[in-house]
Amino acid sequence: MSVQKEREMTSNYGDPVITGGLSVFDPEFDEAFYYDGTDLGANYSAERTWFRLWAPTASEAWVCLYDEWDSQQAQQHSMRRDIQGTWVLELEGDQKNRYYTYLVQIGDELNEAADPYARAVGVNGDRGVIIDLGATNPERWTKDKPELASHLDAIIYEVHIRDATIHPASGATHKGKYLGLGESGTKGPGGIPTGLDHIAGLGVTHVQLLPFFDYSTESVDETRLDEPQYNWGYDPKNYNVPEGSYATDPYQPSVRIRELKQLIQSLHDRGLRVVMDVVYNHVYDGYIANFTKLVPGYYLRYTPNGTFSNGSGCGNDVASQRRMVSKFIVDSVVYWAEEYHLDGFRFDLMGLIDVDTMNEIRARLNQIDPTILVYGEGWIIPTELPKDRLATFENAGKMPGIGHFSDIIRDAIKGHVFDAQTGGFVTGRGGMEHDIRRGIAGGIRYSEEIRGFSDEPVQSVNYAECHDNHTLWDKIVRSTGSDSNLLRRDMHRLASAIILTCQGIPFLHAGQEFLRTKNGVENSYNSSDLINRLDWDRCHVHTDDVDYMKALIGLRRAHPAFRLRSAELIRNHLYFELSPFHSVAFTLRNHAGGDPDLHLYVIYNAIREKMESYLPQLGRWEVRFGGEIVQELDGNRLAVSGIGMVVLAVSGH
Ligand code: CA
Repeated sequence: MSVQKEREMTSNYGDPVITGGLSVFDPEFDEAFYYDGTDLGANYSAERTWFRLWAPTASEAWVCLYDEWDSQQAQQHSMRRDIQGTWVLELEGDQKNRYYTYLVQIGDELNEAADPYARAVGVNGDRGVIIDLGATNPERWTKDKPELASHLDAIIYEVHIRDATIHPASGATHKGKYLGLGESGTKGPGGIPTGLDHIAGLGVTHVQLLPFFDYSTESVDETRLDEPQYNWGYDPKNYNVPEGSYATDPYQPSVRIRELKQLIQSLHDRGLRVVMDVVYNHVYDGYIANFTKLVPGYYLRYTPNGTFSNGSGCGNDVASQRRMVSKFIVDSVVYWAEEYHLDGFRFDLMGLIDVDTMNEIRARLNQIDPTILVYGEGWIIPTELPKDRLATFENAGKMPGIGHFSDIIRDAIKGHVFDAQTGGFVTGRGGMEHDIRRGIAGGIRYSEEIRGFSDEPVQSVNYAECHDNHTLWDKIVRSTGSDSNLLRRDMHRLASAIILTCQGIPFLHAGQEFLRTKNGVENSYNSSDLINRLDWDRCHVHTDDVDYMKALIGLRRAHPAFRLRSAELIRNHLYFELSPFHSVAFTLRNHAGGDPDLHLYVIYNAIREKMESYLPQLGRWEVRFGGEIVQELDGNRLAVSGIGMVVLAVSGH
């Protein structure tokens, strides 16, 4: 976009006469035009359809009806100006499955846009569709969810819908689709379970799906699905509609809705809760987004020069602090939670969203189901809003019940993500022990020295790998010179072991259990399937690593001591123990969290050769985990043969 074009586009905010002299940039605009109702969008019944559009700066507005997603002829219906800057129209009769857009006169411009509140769209999402949502439910559709006593019992597994089954050996019928990930009984090389069976077999509790709201046509064109195309999907187009490319038929508006619901039901039926990755921090193109066409200047943040604020790095930042934007985001999250039975929301660049909006989301979700998870990337990124108002990890204390990805434990384990060669604790870098301890304590204020960003452990989401940056394996390869792959595997296992024994919420990336590689591609958002897909051949080769991950997950699930419910319990039961440089040891004492064992002793050893440590004299220690690297356990002396984690216990009776 040229500078001149930018000026043109941002100069026409409508005629102030229409808005009583107010500009969209005035703080009073929100006071004057905030609309509190629940009927924005197209509200369908068999007898009539009721539209309400929020567009205070428009001097006229119409609903345009189309018979098809691509038909040229529209039937135009004039809307009536109503309260708080809204426009309304009632159409008699059954309007089901008709396509619609809004047309608004803003100053001397006539803009046509899809309804931001649209709940169904046609192929590629340029028009909304009037939908009978009740008719989109699959045959089996229940509100039953797998049990979750506490957010701290969650073990999250992040996967991209297409990646899960697109490999030729996945055994799935609907490869790369919503339905593919919902298939049971699929087998891969050597008869290993794949897809959903594989994930359910790990013992994780939550599956976090990369974005599946309708994303940009420039990323994936839904009319060309027979051609090679790939995208993660972090480029929102229609926030309240599922993406079409994962549906078996993107042209039929109800199909993507039904098939996504079917997937969620299948995951629930296999004991897995579902987390949606949401991207409310930016829109895929600030100039042509529906928001900008309907109320230019309102929905996005601007710099004092009149250009878009761009903390997201994607060209614009959504102005979440404005009341109707905040309402849109809250309404959208609530809609997904209720209509699609979702169990959690992961906020992309949450640090760009304001604290009040995040707290409102938490409060509204609590009314629906307090076990719904809310967490996100609380990174500190400059945007056009004061930093004390942003939902960053620095401000975690202002947002109880909302989690943040912990870069403390991530970088301590493997080294900084933006410097591939820099190693971390598991690869033998010294001086990382302190940050590992901060991670073990769940980022809480454990002591004056050992403290992170969180007030409570539920606010710390611990991870060593996610879709961003090098996979853990690729990072280890790049930061360990000429070390052998066998040694690297031990480092990788130790990294996962740390994640699953820290206080807080553990988070795994799909394929981490079989040493996933992207062949060194760091940012694979639009790389081919070859780079991104889950490689079931590799999974087969690394069956013992998959088993190791299962054992780790089993260990966490068997021991409430690793899932202490509060900062106070952590301060009372967690003790750091002396151990050699390049190792970290701690105990969880006195039936921590109701643990069946009286005491647990955990040591992370990053020393490549034999390591010896003295155990606290709390009773007779026996091995609970990592016996294969225990060389000697003699009274209060432990010798470990190399890199890895060992867990000992003094039993409870
Ligand atoms: Ca799309």
